[in-house]
Amino acid sequence: MKKILILSGKGGTGKTTLSSALIRLLDAKAYADCDVDAPNLHLVMEEENEPLKSDFLGLPAAYIDPAKCISCDLCRQNCRFDAITNINGYIVNDHACEGCKVCTLVCPSDAIEMVPRVIGHLSLYKNGHVFSTAELKMGSGNSGLLVTEVKKHLYVNSKNADIAIIDGSPGIGCPVIASISGVDLVILVSEPTISGFSDMERIIKTSEGFPAKVAVCVNKFDLHLENTEKIISYCSENGIPFVGTIPFDKDASSLINQGKTLADKDGPARDSIIKIMERSMKILNEGDN
Ligand code: SF4
Ligand code: SF4
Repeated sequence: MKKILILSGKGGTGKTTLSSALIRLLDAKAYADCDVDAPNLHLVMEEENEPLKSDFLGLPAAYIDPAKCISCDLCRQNCRFDAITNINGYIVNDHACEGCKVCTLVCPSDAIEMVPRVIGHLSLYKNGHVFSTAELKMGSGNSGLLVTEVKKHLYVNSKNADIAIIDGSPGIGCPVIASISGVDLVILVSEPTISGFSDMERIIKTSEGFPAKVAVCVNKFDLHLENTEKIISYCSENGIPFVGTIPFDKDASSLINQGKTLADKDGPARDSIIKIMERSMKILNEGDN
């Protein structure tokens, strides 16, 4: 299975717009949403059946059994993370607890235990294709680990698919690195702004540590032609394949809200994405016999 990952420096650049259109155009039988902090591919790729859901567990957190607690206050005094409060009894704040176990060691009445903490949910749709996605609870860390789980669910359940499209995480942090790992081609969706340019440079540098091929496209290119040219020149000077531009389409958001993709509407945006797809597939398959 060949794996294409769509990335962008931040949310709202057009990553999901391009991912969903490529899924439709390529009739991909395997796809995933690795934007676990704000997944939205499921809004576009309407599914007939409910997903199989599973919990995603983070590091265990402390839990205080009120029946055993003798209110000595030692746990609260020794917690370096101020995770324990005493308002109507001793309680642990799950978000603040770092799982260091100090409280369990100082408690004289064995009232504290470490319990698994659910920090997100994985969803797997199987409707003649496989769609893997997940959502991390707000304020939880470990999004990189959850991204790895999303991809594992996808690969294990779609071994016969020829191609997988993965909507990556925005930014350049840990979840992006987890997204890039093991993919064949990264398509960076840039926008014609100064910040879009520097985001693109940073993701390209991040990708250099991986064997994946990298290509760039610009979404809403016609909003600033000069910046678009700057991105194209950068790619040419640095030997990075530039696979095309997508014009601004005022209907893009409303199409997505209706569960449709830009590939479902005839027009310049669809035509541009078809060209991006053709060039990307050529790059993806270069070197194959
Ligand atoms: S496990 Fe550590 S961080 Fe969590 S409540 Fe106990 S002392 Fe505080
Ligand atoms: S250390 Fe144990 S007994 Fe003391 S307040 Fe904390 S939970 Fe209660």
